[in-house]
Amino acid sequence: MAAAPIPLERMRNLGIVAHIDAGKTTVSERILFYTGVESRMGEVHEGTATMDYMAEERARGITITAAATSVPWRGHEIHLIDTPGHVDFTVEVERCLRILDGAVLVLNGVAGVQAQSETVWRQMKRHGVRALAFVNQLDRPGADFLRCVGDLKKRLGLPAVPVQYPLVSGRERRALVDLVTRRAFEFHEEDQGRTPREIPVPAEVEDEVAVLRAELLDALAEESEPVLAAVLEEREPEPALLRAALRARVLSGTLVPVLGGAALRNLGIQPLLDAVVDYLPSPAEVGGVRGVHAHSGAVLERSPDPRGPACALCFKLVADANEDLLFARVYSGVLKPGMKLYNPRVKRMERIARVLRMHADQKSALGEAFPGEIVALTGCKFSVTGDTLCEHEEPILLERTVFPAPVLTRVIEPRSGADRDKLRAALERLAFEDPTFTVRQDEETGQWLVAGMGELHLEVKEHRLAQDFHLAVNSGQPRVAYREALVGSASGSGRVDRVLGGVHVFGAVELELGPPAPRSASEIASARTVIDWDERCAIPGDLRAAVAEGLRLEAEVGPRFGFPLDGVHIRLAGGESRPGLDSEPGFVQAASQALRSAFAAAEVALLEPLMDFEIGAPPEAMSAILGDLNAKQADIRELAAEGEWRIVTGSVPLFHVFGYATTLRSLSQGRASFALTPAGFRRVPEAELGARGLAWS
Ligand code: GDP
Ligand code: MG
Repeated sequence: MAAAPIPLERMRNLGIVAHIDAGKTTVSERILFYTGVESRMGEVHEGTATMDYMAEERARGITITAAATSVPWRGHEIHLIDTPGHVDFTVEVERCLRILDGAVLVLNGVAGVQAQSETVWRQMKRHGVRALAFVNQLDRPGADFLRCVGDLKKRLGLPAVPVQYPLVSGRERRALVDLVTRRAFEFHEEDQGRTPREIPVPAEVEDEVAVLRAELLDALAEESEPVLAAVLEEREPEPALLRAALRARVLSGTLVPVLGGAALRNLGIQPLLDAVVDYLPSPAEVGGVRGVHAHSGAVLERSPDPRGPACALCFKLVADANEDLLFARVYSGVLKPGMKLYNPRVKRMERIARVLRMHADQKSALGEAFPGEIVALTGCKFSVTGDTLCEHEEPILLERTVFPAPVLTRVIEPRSGADRDKLRAALERLAFEDPTFTVRQDEETGQWLVAGMGELHLEVKEHRLAQDFHLAVNSGQPRVAYREALVGSASGSGRVDRVLGGVHVFGAVELELGPPAPRSASEIASARTVIDWDERCAIPGDLRAAVAEGLRLEAEVGPRFGFPLDGVHIRLAGGESRPGLDSEPGFVQAASQALRSAFAAAEVALLEPLMDFEIGAPPEAMSAILGDLNAKQADIRELAAEGEWRIVTGSVPLFHVFGYATTLRSLSQGRASFALTPAGFRRVPEAELGARGLAWS
C-alpha cells in the first residue's frame, strides 16, 4: 500500500519520554487508539521496573518496539519513535533524541518531576529537541497539576506554561479548559472518551482560568508583538494568533506548553495530539545537522535539501521475522531503493534493497525518502546502530563512532552443551546490533563474558536470547567491568638466538612503553594500542608487520589481573639485525619477551567504572542518604533544594551501587528516586584491591 507522500510540513518526528511508571506506555497506547490505528485499547501490566520494560516489549509486539510507528492526525503524519526509557541505554537514548524533532515529556501528576525526567530533559536540551509536557495521572489522589507546573519551572529552568486547565476529580469530573480558546470539554467513559462534549467553563474555576490565561498571554507577549499589542489594548487575541505565537516559542526552545489529563481514564489524549500538530516542529523547521568529514575530520554541515548529497543516520537495527530492518533518518539528499550508499565506518558500500515506512501493523514500500523522513531500510549488510550512510564522494560521519566502555560484565553459558554454537552465533549477532554490548570467550573456561552498560541492559539481552533465539542460558552475577592501565613509562628488551628444529632463529628487540595520548575519561575504552618505529630500530622492514600484530594482540590483556588493557603506546626503540639469521618467529618472540619485561617493570593501575548519580528525596530522608553515599566514597558535587525536594548529584564507583534501588528504598521509605549514568573510569586505590577480591600483585 503506497500512501500518497505527505509534505514535510505535515510530518512530526516525535518521542514520548518519561520517568518509569509515569504512563509512557499508557499514553502511547491511547495515541494508537484515538488515531484509529488500534481498535482496542491495550492493557498495561504492572510489575517491577525491569519486568515492566520486558512485559512492555512482549505485550506491545510490533507497535511499540517497531522503533518508529506512523499515526495519522488531522491530516498530519506523526512518527512515534520509541525511545528506551532507561538510562542503561544511554547511547541509544542519546541517539534517539538526536534523530527526534520533538518530544512529549510525560510526568506523573502525583510525583511531579522525577530524577529521570530531569536527566532526559538535559539530554533533550543538548540535542535541541522541542518539548511539550503532559501531566498524567491527574485522577489519582494527591495529584496536582499546578504543583507539577511549578516543579517543571523550577527544575527545568524554563518557562513551563499551562495551555490547559484540567479539571479532574475522581470519577465525577473529567474535563479540560483549553486556555487558548477558553472553551471547556468534558470526556465521557461510555464512549471511551472518543467524543469530548463542550460545556460552559464551570463557574467555580473561572477565576483560576482567568489567572492562567493572563499568565499565558504575558508569556507570549514577551516575544510576540501582536500578542503584546492585544494585551496592551485589552483586546482578546484570536486563538490562531496565540497558537502561532506558542509555536514560535516552542520552536525557539524558550517555552514548554504544559497539558494534563489521565491517560488511563481516556482524558486528554486528543488535545495532546492537537498540541503535537500545532506546536511541535516539522522536519522542515529543524534545519541542518553537523558531522565531520570521514577522512579529514573537518566539521561539515548538511541542510535538509533533497538536492544535497545523500546522508542518513542509522539509529536502530531490528531483526524482523525474515529480514533486518535498519531504521534511519534522512538528513539530506533522497534515498531510493536500489541505490548504493557508503558506510565510512566499515569503508564499504551498501546496496539499499527497499525503503519502508512503518505503520503500526504494516510496512509500505516507498519510492523515495526525503530529508526529515524516518524510514526502515533493508538490504544493508554491514551497517549498524550509530552508522552514517552517505555518498562515497562526500563521506561524512554524523556520529563519532566512539562508544562508552561497558561497565558491567557477566558470565553466560548455555544450559545444554549442544547449544554452544547457537549461543556463539546469537551473542555475535547481539553484539553486532549494539556496540555497547560486547562479547568475549574466556579461553580457559570456554564461558562467555558479556559486557554492557547496566544490569537492565544485560537482562534485556538475556531476555532476547530466550525470546528471539530460543536459547536457555545460565548466567553469573553481574560484576564490575574493570580495566587496566599503564601509569608512567617503562622499557624492556628481548632476545632470541638459538637453534630450533635444526633452524637458527634470531631476533632482538628493545621497546619503550608509555600511556596513550591523554584523553577524556569517557574515551578510555576507545584507546587503541599505538605502535611506532624509532629511527634506531633495527628490526628488518619486512618483519615489522608480524611484530606489530603480535604486540597488538598481547597488549589487549592487562598484565596484572588479566582485565582488558587500556591502549598503550609502544615505541620500538632498538634491537639488532643479523642479516642471514633474522627470522620472523625470532623477532615475534623477542618482541613478546620485550613487552613482558616492560610490563613487569611498569606500574599498572586498576580502573573501575564511575557513575554519575542524581538522587531526589524529601529532606527528612536526606541525612541517611548522604551518610550512605559517604560510606560509598561518593564524590558529592551539589546538594540543592527544589521546593519540597532535595536533590543531590555527584559520582560514585559502580562497585558500590549494585542494587542501589533496594538500598535507597529502605533509606527513604520508598520516597526517593535516582538516576545513574556512566561517567568514565577512575583508578581504584591500591589499598582497596583486597576488598574487591583482587589480591596485591
Ligand atoms: P510507563 O512505565 O511510563 O510506561 O508507565 P505505564 O503506562 O506502564 O503506567 C504505569 C502505571 O500507571 C500502570 O499501572 C498504569 O495503569 C498506571 N497509569 C497510567 N496512566 C494513568 C492514569 O492516567 N491514571 C492512573 N490512575 N493510573 C495510570
Ligand atoms: Mg511502560
